[in-house]
Amino acid sequence: MRCQSLNEFGGDVVGETRPDLTVSGTEVLLKVTANGVCHTDLHIREGNYNLGNGKKLNFADRGMKLPIVMGHEPAGVVVKAGPEAGELDTTKNYVIYPWQGCGTCHQCEDGRENYCSAPGYLGIQKDGGYADHIKIPHPKYLFDIGNIAPEIAAPLACSGLTTYSALKKVEDTLTKAPVVLLGVGGLGLMCVGLVKAMGGLPPVVVDLDPAKREAALKAGASAAIDGAADDAMAQVQAAVGGPALAVIDLVGAESTATLAFDAIGKGGKIVIVGLFGGAAPWALPLIPVKAASIMGSYAGSLDEFGELMQLAVKGLVPGLPTTTHELESANDILNKLASGQVVGRAVLTP
Ligand SMILES: [Zn+2]
Ligand SMILES: [Zn+2]
Repeated sequence: MRCQSLNEFGGDVVGETRPDLTVSGTEVLLKVTANGVCHTDLHIREGNYNLGNGKKLNFADRGMKLPIVMGHEPAGVVVKAGPEAGELDTTKNYVIYPWQGCGTCHQCEDGRENYCSAPGYLGIQKDGGYADHIKIPHPKYLFDIGNIAPEIAAPLACSGLTTYSALKKVEDTLTKAPVVLLGVGGLGLMCVGLVKAMGGLPPVVVDLDPAKREAALKAGASAAIDGAADDAMAQVQAAVGGPALAVIDLVGAESTATLAFDAIGKGGKIVIVGLFGGAAPWALPLIPVKAASIMGSYAGSLDEFGELMQLAVKGLVPGLPTTTHELESANDILNKLASGQVVGRAVLTP
């Protein structure tokens, strides 16, 4: 098999040829048809997240082992399955749920494998989709993509699921007041479409880029506000019709976290999804005074992914604008992503 391997943090991803994978038990081997290149992959290659105040979270300190084949947004076609995997359709494309847990801890038993403390996430702890083949432990992680193109379906495993799970955390507010979306790039546009699919009021979006604001309005946002405006917070509250009930921060920077906190009213909820980095900017006493809920959202559960894929195959989830690239260009794509040269989602198609 061909793969792109990360052998040292801070180094390049390099092409390698390895012995073909074999399967046993419930395992399934797939030929990878598409794998999205996520921003998280950049952090993995660098080996850290910026925590603000000059601090970094190092993946090596958290027990991440190299070499690893990155890629946690894989789609593929079943090639081979172990004797206990059951009958599988070898003509269909599936998107693979990558947030696989240990299966035995209380989080996994409660269906939250994405919160497992001993996870086997594809592309992070286990070899992922920067390869022409991928092996998974069980067919329950496979979701039929229907008529969606593999390069459009693949990013649903991370970007799509993360966005959906963030919205699920504030689902009770979506019909009461417009949710506020901070940052409306590809993920934000997907979020605008999902709010609609979930029956919510048209959201209010904030972005620095006029072209992105325009695209969000076209996609169904009720208002699009320039985050750099001096009165951005007042504009947000005017568009919502009062203090916001819920804000989804798809950027995760100190500036957006500040705006989110200022925009919510009593009992308001903030869900932080973006991993831009920095330190928390809120005054501690105001958290109880506002009775604010500040939550993080990372990927989503297997059940949530099933719900998302049901919406997706019905055509209710807008795909990210994508460009496709050969497997061997993985490192170049990561470099371009790092310097902001990737428009939309780059997807490797081995
Ligand atoms: Zn990701
Ligand atoms: Zn577990």
